[in-house]
Amino acid sequence: MSVKIPLSPIPVLNFVSGKFKAGTGSKISIHSPHNGALIGEIHQSSPEDIQTAIADARRAQKEWAATPIKERTKILFQLRQILLRDIDEISHLKSSESGKTFTEGKAGLMKGIEVLEFATSLQNLDVGGKLEVSRGVSCEYRRMPVGVVASITPFNFPAMVPFWTIPTALALGNAYIWKPSEKTPLTSMKIAQSLQEAGLPDGIFQVLQGGAEVAQSLLDHPDVQALSFVGSTPVARAVYERGTKAGKRILALGGAKNHIVLLPDANPEIAGIGISDSFTGCAGQRCMAAAVVLAVGEVRHHIQKIIDRASSLELGKDMGAIISKAQVKFLHDQIENAVAEGAKILLDGRKASPPPGMEQGNWIGPTILDYVSPHQEISKLELFGPVLCIVRCKDISEAMRIENSSLMGNACSVFTSSGALAEKVISMASTGMVGVNVGVPVPREPFSFGGINQSKFGHGDITGTSSLDFWSNLKKVTVKWDQQHDNNWMS
Ligand code: NAD
Repeated sequence: MSVKIPLSPIPVLNFVSGKFKAGTGSKISIHSPHNGALIGEIHQSSPEDIQTAIADARRAQKEWAATPIKERTKILFQLRQILLRDIDEISHLKSSESGKTFTEGKAGLMKGIEVLEFATSLQNLDVGGKLEVSRGVSCEYRRMPVGVVASITPFNFPAMVPFWTIPTALALGNAYIWKPSEKTPLTSMKIAQSLQEAGLPDGIFQVLQGGAEVAQSLLDHPDVQALSFVGSTPVARAVYERGTKAGKRILALGGAKNHIVLLPDANPEIAGIGISDSFTGCAGQRCMAAAVVLAVGEVRHHIQKIIDRASSLELGKDMGAIISKAQVKFLHDQIENAVAEGAKILLDGRKASPPPGMEQGNWIGPTILDYVSPHQEISKLELFGPVLCIVRCKDISEAMRIENSSLMGNACSVFTSSGALAEKVISMASTGMVGVNVGVPVPREPFSFGGINQSKFGHGDITGTSSLDFWSNLKKVTVKWDQQHDNNWMS
């Protein structure tokens, strides 16, 4: 299905105190990456708008915290139904602003719904715990909300990334303030509308539109107690430093440069499709995309399969557009430099034609470069586009040395039919997520999502059970009602 692009610009509004309202700051225009059409206009939040939203969240959160978790999650069950009912509409909207194909837009939302399902399950789990620690004395954990929390999200997953945190933070009793990417803000209004329809009280979920300045105001505000960030590494680091300096709990996920170890004994079909789909999916604009193939030994037949699969993709149908013209130019420049430095081009996406009628969009086809040196900039820098570098390695040890030298740490995968070799890569990989014969090793819930090294600043993961500690505080309660039978050291 082709993506439905809004025919006229949508005013992008804040959602504060249960009402949509234009921010009173300056404006930003939003153009669809598919065809360049003006599809939205953000009214950015002013300092006064931010102040009002946080004060309202603070007021509303007290009542929400006192609401039993079974009542809170009932709203999330309702939200799930609404999202499934409107899945096509939301998928078109998010794809039109991010450049994704309709299928990719829908897949991202389904993953977001999976996290929502995880959060609804919290109503059936004892997320605290109680024990009789001595005769007549019990100790108990109570999971308390943090208070007013915030999140700052990137352009590439306008619904999935926010849904990594919205459901769990709300289920645990927090009031949540979201600053979506100023490049893809349209979906945020639909999500706010869906939460309101599901029955969420006013003030518990707010959306503040804008760019870096709005994000920084949230980081500096004393009433925001915890903040999650997802975006590029330089900004993630800056957000972590600024937020922790202001005394906040911060989890900041950054960029990536993911390696695939390709071994001669891999299943050619699984490897060819898995690697090609990994670097071309979302036009390479995802933090789990394959970026570098570490080709060990004789793998010519595998590489041919990757080329065959990637060159069969039709732009606009199987592969989406790039977020901006500046990013397309950056990709062109990187490819040109790599070739000038000696890389061999096996597939040149710069020559691909845009889909008919989409000539004003931002397009580049899949590109594969072979004989790239591990020392070249292109094999180290995050590109965020459909460009795959192949680095030739004589053995697994050399491949893992290169992988281990990466500053990033999101994902590493191995394609092989040997359990022992797969285990070697699993144990040696310097990443938070590892795949075996899987091109995009995103863990399914309840297994949590998160990298290491410069792909993450802060402790814990952003989804799954690991995220519960981020969005809550543990209150430890020790109780004695009766006279104790015996004295012990605690009496
Ligand atoms: P970005 O870092 O440019 O922007 C992300 C968010 O940060 C936006 O909302 C933006 O407004 C805000 N921002 C920008 N400058 C800021 C500043 N100085 N202070 C505070 N906030 C600021 O990222 P992007 O281009 O939107 O997204 C692509 C990047 O996100 C890639 O690097 C990609 O790898 C990364 N990403 C990582 C993950 C992950 O799980 N690790 C997931 C998705 C995307």
